[in-house]
Amino acid sequence: MCHHQQGNHDCDVSFNVLSNKHFESEFDRLITQNGLLEGPVCGHCGARYLDQPGNFIFNGSHGKIPAGKNGRKAKPAGFRVIHKPCKGKAGARFTVSLDHQQQEKMHDNVRLLRALVNGARITALRKLLVDPDTGKKCGVERVYNRIFWLEKNLLAFERAKLKEWRDKTEAQGGHPHMRIAHDDVVIGVNWESRSDRRLTPLQCSVSADIDTGYVFRIDANFDTTVDPVQVVQENYLDDQLMPTNVRQAYAQKSGNNFTVPSMHFQRPTGRFEEAALFASAESHWRVFSLRLDKEYAAQGLAQLPQDDLDEIANANEHRKIFNTLRNGYFGFQETDRDSRGSFNGSVVKPTYTKAAHLACLRDLLPAKRLTIVGEQEASMVRVVPHVFRDWIQEDRFEWHVMHFDKNASEPENSRRATAFKTAFDIYKARAHASGQTQTSDHALLSQFCAGAMAPAFNRDPSGHMTPFPIINFRSVQFPQLWVRSGVEIHGETREVVGFPVLRKKYRQKLKGSAFHVMPTDPDLCDALARRYIKATIHPVSSFMNSLRERVSPTKRARGRSARNGPSYINGATFNPAVLVAFLNIYRINYNRFEERPYSSASARNSNQVAVSSGTQSIRRPGSKVKVKAPKQRKLAPIQSTPAIRLGADARRMTSTTRATPDPRRILYRPWLNHGTPLWKKFETR
Ligand SMILES: [Zn+2]
Ligand SMILES: [Zn+2]
Repeated sequence: MCHHQQGNHDCDVSFNVLSNKHFESEFDRLITQNGLLEGPVCGHCGARYLDQPGNFIFNGSHGKIPAGKNGRKAKPAGFRVIHKPCKGKAGARFTVSLDHQQQEKMHDNVRLLRALVNGARITALRKLLVDPDTGKKCGVERVYNRIFWLEKNLLAFERAKLKEWRDKTEAQGGHPHMRIAHDDVVIGVNWESRSDRRLTPLQCSVSADIDTGYVFRIDANFDTTVDPVQVVQENYLDDQLMPTNVRQAYAQKSGNNFTVPSMHFQRPTGRFEEAALFASAESHWRVFSLRLDKEYAAQGLAQLPQDDLDEIANANEHRKIFNTLRNGYFGFQETDRDSRGSFNGSVVKPTYTKAAHLACLRDLLPAKRLTIVGEQEASMVRVVPHVFRDWIQEDRFEWHVMHFDKNASEPENSRRATAFKTAFDIYKARAHASGQTQTSDHALLSQFCAGAMAPAFNRDPSGHMTPFPIINFRSVQFPQLWVRSGVEIHGETREVVGFPVLRKKYRQKLKGSAFHVMPTDPDLCDALARRYIKATIHPVSSFMNSLRERVSPTKRARGRSARNGPSYINGATFNPAVLVAFLNIYRINYNRFEERPYSSASARNSNQVAVSSGTQSIRRPGSKVKVKAPKQRKLAPIQSTPAIRLGADARRMTSTTRATPDPRRILYRPWLNHGTPLWKKFETR
């Protein structure tokens, strides 16, 4: 964080040096969803089957699943494969089977899914999985394992379906223009003990399609795969428990050589929030010796056996060296998080997660042109131009940033929307009267917006105009003009929109404009108006609202809409990996298994169908006589899922006999290996 004085306050430009290596590790973490989608791996060299299935050959089947009562034939449990380049070496021949093949549990798993997405807490899920014969409740660990299993299978299913969709769309020449809403959502999780109610914020990057509401990814800055103790020991300690790797050597021109402690982008752990990582590694050892002590104390033993005394001495030695590293070499600030140290994983620096999230998104979409709409986030400034560099050069990418009135209440928002609608109706009537009868409403809206557009700026205490955006956006690489306009068609009101990246032809023109003067070029103004009316992050916020309503661990614990102050979140989120699983399961359910109406002010197709003007019966009060009256409704919203609207679900939008997909048909197929020879093997066994 820069603390140079600008005027009478800090300039607050945050400046981190990013490391490509860390970015690539983070990208790999997100693309494999914390390793869940990594698939089979050669035990000798670590090559992934899914990367190059052609390098693996089949070597017979393994095991048998006995015939079922329902007439199902016996079939092999798994298949042996050999990684050809490593043939003959240890680990190169291995068996691939599917986890949880017993179909008897299928019913349970589907019930679990339904309960999860409808706000059940862990305690309710445990009751749900009670053994019907013995009445024995299911352990929390087993509930977690079921949840992780659901997460993995749903993610694999979604990846396969999205890939099909991308290939199909690309074969047809690609999606002409996709608009993606992106926002950061902070979920405060309590993963401390019951007596310790501090919340740790996890930052989640969410991206959703503006036209259809499809939520492509939600990525939390938490790496569930790492063991903090292991990471620190492997990277910084040698066999004698001496620090290695902690200094960087430099040579000056004068021939002077010197070393200094490595900077975070040079350190192997630089991708993580290192203060928390080291604190957690240290506390794992502390918890370990405390538990040993406690177990013996409970037995009434004052003196521990020698073996355990050695263990405790060893733990103390590790803690000492960890503390030397934290405070002596790297100078991390004290942190008292993770004091329980009961789970693995580490918080990742949000910039890396953000960059990797956008890179995953970029590779997922079959878009010819792409527009990202987001809020003013400092980290986006550093990440977006980097991740989309090639797209920007090819003139296929735009980035719009919006600001809106977050403090407005719901009634205030609808009052503003109504005021706008009235003004626009008058505008339309005038336009029609003056002969513009052929112009579509959408074109008129764009005209109205262009006419009402004005520069947005702030004023400093002495009344001078200052640029609107936060300091990170005031760089010369971006156009400085941000605009407001009276158009209120999204959930957000009093919108101000900036255009950091625009198509080249407009960008050059806009960069010539001062921050407080509207450009005079009518082409440019029309282009800005068209963009302004499509700038929204509503798809992300409506997804998050529905998530918060339905999934108890994600309720907003703090912030403006908190109803009863900071709320404590029960049991469910002691382990952040479970929270991540909740998010993914809910997201896929939202995208594919639940039909809802959706309207987007910028959708190409109307999301409503005309219904015949029937009649209805209204009962006369105090009697049984019914009076006939015409139905009001002329348009009915179409119920569908985001996947159908996106075209990533083969079922037809207009079909009236369409059923919601049955999770039972989906969960038990080998989606992880979709599109490879293994998929065929499992499907036809
Ligand atoms: Zn500065
Ligand atoms: Zn190999």
